[in-house]
Amino acid sequence: MRKFNIGIIGYGGMASYHHKKIGKPENVVFVSAFDISKKRLEKAQSEGLFVYDSFDEFIKNDNLDAVLIATPNNSHKDYAVRAMNEGKHVICEKPVSLNSSELEEMIAVSKANGVIFTVHQNRRMDKDYRIIRKILKDDTLGEIFRIESRVQGSRGIADTWRRKKECGGGMMYDWGVHLIDQILMATESKVTSVFAEFQYISQSEVDDNFRLTMTFENGLSALVEIGTCNFIMHPIWYVAGKEGTAQIDYWNLEGRIFKLINKDIKWEDEIPSSLVGPSITLAPRAEDTMKCLPLPEPDIVPEDDYFYKNFAEAILRKTELLIKPEETMRTMKIIDLAFESGRENKVINCNI
Ligand code: NAD
Repeated sequence: MRKFNIGIIGYGGMASYHHKKIGKPENVVFVSAFDISKKRLEKAQSEGLFVYDSFDEFIKNDNLDAVLIATPNNSHKDYAVRAMNEGKHVICEKPVSLNSSELEEMIAVSKANGVIFTVHQNRRMDKDYRIIRKILKDDTLGEIFRIESRVQGSRGIADTWRRKKECGGGMMYDWGVHLIDQILMATESKVTSVFAEFQYISQSEVDDNFRLTMTFENGLSALVEIGTCNFIMHPIWYVAGKEGTAQIDYWNLEGRIFKLINKDIKWEDEIPSSLVGPSITLAPRAEDTMKCLPLPEPDIVPEDDYFYKNFAEAILRKTELLIKPEETMRTMKIIDLAFESGRENKVINCNI
């Protein structure tokens, strides 16, 4: 069995997670690390890796087949290009780049060198998302007209490079990239407009809160919202179809589906009075016209080593890459437009 040696660029929190926690098949081995921090190199060494404080020495190693890039976001493109030009296959942490033109360059360099290039969009396999995918696949809710996906916390944005604009900090690059990717992977229709509002609540340099609305050709409207100053949180998923609504409350996967079993509505002659007050339109629906269902099981439960196994098999051309850089291009284009929309405070029409 052919063995693949991987070197890590940036041995921080996420790289350590890749090294110690993410499953890998036997033929994928992390062997080395390069970092600009002496402390992190010591950590990498203590965890069994050969360490380098020079990128050139690190990358010019013939025993290295591939690299994992897990540095702050502003350096992904340069390291990927340099590594691919040395003939190394590349796994890049998300966001793959700061914008779609950087990504175009990365894809061109990967093609020119005939190397595999993928992005760690790991949240495509999260259980909450896979439950939503199952609901969509089974057509449980009828025609879907609204998807809302949210991640919210209350501790502000971490006081690291994540708060620095020049490093590609901010919540759009941090979490927005995951949630947009998830929604785009779940919808075949094209995005026809983008509107985004950014807020700077706990500091003034990078977005720590934003709301992004994407409108699709088929009429679907999708909201992605990230907040870091929410002491009460919205549900993480809310999906509305013409015949039902699904909600996932939180990461513990509690939630429910309300499904219509009788579409007929008997409108009252007189305005009914309910908790809503006098309203004929918003008075509650008769209980026996709906049923409450539990959330289904996720459509996919991957093996621990699915990501690295796929990477190794893709290098051997035995299978397609699970996460193709061209897919992340769509996400980066949406992010470009979201920033433009936020700057100009207007809806941007598109065909993505
Ligand atoms: P971190 O700050 O813990 O680690 C970054 C590491 O890079 C540090 O060791 C730092 O010394 C090193 N570094 C900084 N600048 C460098 C440079 N120019 N050259 C070489 N090394 C450099 O950050 P992190 O949380 O590990 O995030 C790293 C990347 O991983 C980011 O792109 C982030 O978005 C991504 N990430 C992904 C997930 C996920 O679920 N996919 C989760 C967390 C982070």
